[in-house]
Amino acid sequence: MTFRSQASSVPTIVLNDGNVIPQLGFGVFQVPEDQVAGVVSTALEVGYRSIDTASIYGNEKGVGEAVRSSGIPRDDLFITTKLWNADQGYDSTLRAFDASMERLGLDYLDLYLIHWPVPSANKFVDTFRAMQALQADGRIGSIGVSNFRVIDLETLIDATGVTPTVNQIELHPTLAQRELRQYQDNHAIATEAWSPLGQGKLLDNPTIVGVAQQTGRTPAQVIIRWHLQQGIIVIPKSVTPSRIAENFDVFDFELTPAQMEALSPLDKGDRIGPDPSVFKAGLD
Ligand code: NAD
Repeated sequence: MTFRSQASSVPTIVLNDGNVIPQLGFGVFQVPEDQVAGVVSTALEVGYRSIDTASIYGNEKGVGEAVRSSGIPRDDLFITTKLWNADQGYDSTLRAFDASMERLGLDYLDLYLIHWPVPSANKFVDTFRAMQALQADGRIGSIGVSNFRVIDLETLIDATGVTPTVNQIELHPTLAQRELRQYQDNHAIATEAWSPLGQGKLLDNPTIVGVAQQTGRTPAQVIIRWHLQQGIIVIPKSVTPSRIAENFDVFDFELTPAQMEALSPLDKGDRIGPDPSVFKAGLD
């Protein structure tokens, strides 16, 4: 399949450190290492320039291969990876970063995230300080967090005096995270949505299907617009080339205010993933 690349049509978000992230990126959670290079190559061909991986996904090597063989200038790409729970702590973060970069085969990372706060371990402040040191060394562009609650963000900001650029959180129409997003807006923390399509479970929701029929677009495209029109960074995942392209083909239509509003009642606070206040896999 060949695609007409539309990389330049993706809006960008300016982070609180001045760096710029594409608002639509590509996630690779659960994409096996032996498939990921092909899948990421397809995404890059379609026009995605931001790729979201994590050390725990076990596929950084393939992501790096696709990035390096793409021929796309490194400055045009935005690569994110995440520090796993078991690696939290100052020295272990420095080591985990080196290991991730070795697997990626890159010498510069655009965004490094603390994957989960694991509040009971009480290590995320030291972890973030190590990331600040790596950033000061010029090895990372931006540093941020994932799955942090308001209380975790407050603890981090109070302790370090630095506000993370991004908080990547579970966010979709059935978990709209309004309170956390309000806090983040007030503190210039960009909101990035993981499982933005509810891991595909929202695609047959009758309300979303109804809006899709009104717009003549697909349910996935409607949900991606719902994110984009609220200023949220969104990183849908698919391994299917036609869906990878479909999820990117969202810049030639808009949801009306009424269509946006029609999705509001779907917010029931329903989580698909783990609860960040207790999740501590890797540190059990
Ligand atoms: P998602 O909401 O992006 O849904 C992906 C699934 O939806 C696919 O596996 C497929 O089944 C379906 N799908 C995608 N596009 C479709 C289309 N056009 N038509 C029909 N079905 C379609 O779920 P996700 O992968 O969990 O989340 C996206 C990314 O977020 C991940 O790949 C990862 O990078 C990131 N993530 C981060 C965390 C975290 O803790 N920080 C947790 C989970 C995911």
